[in-house]
Amino acid sequence: MRAGVRAPLSAPSRTEKPRMDHEEQVSQAGIPGAPAAAGASVVEQLEAKGVRGILLQLARDGQIIDVRCEMPQCYCFRGRRYFDPRSPRSDWSPTPDHYPRLRAHGGHLTADNVRLAHLRCNQRDYGWRMKINAMLGKRMSLEEIAAHLNAQKVPTIHGTNRWTPSSVRRAFVS
Ligand SMILES: [Zn+2]
Repeated sequence: MRAGVRAPLSAPSRTEKPRMDHEEQVSQAGIPGAPAAAGASVVEQLEAKGVRGILLQLARDGQIIDVRCEMPQCYCFRGRRYFDPRSPRSDWSPTPDHYPRLRAHGGHLTADNVRLAHLRCNQRDYGWRMKINAMLGKRMSLEEIAAHLNAQKVPTIHGTNRWTPSSVRRAFVS
């Protein structure tokens, strides 16, 4: 008896969006047929990654319905739905991001102020957000802010290789 040989599946066309289309990333939450761990509940998926605390609480309360990085900019080359275990920590470990109220602005990890994030996406977001906020506070223009971020080699938002006035604005309002 011979095992059937299958032609390799063609690469999914909509899961990876590596270039120049960052504007669309925010609205990709509802891709039909997107891969999910078949059958495993959100709680089970998070527990399997060693997640505890507020994220697990949200899942148990039915307040997280999808295990995916919810940051406006996701840098994970394996996609928003891929997560490494929580421990040992890696760039792609799951973390709770303070949102919409930043920790620096007094936000806490409460049910109304958390989104699920890759560690790296969370850190990058925080890094440029704090820098941009400070420069906005000094009444610097977006042009000046972009020049500063480029000079400091602050990692850009996904899909771009340098900061521009419009990408600064887009990042800030995301
Ligand atoms: Zn991410």
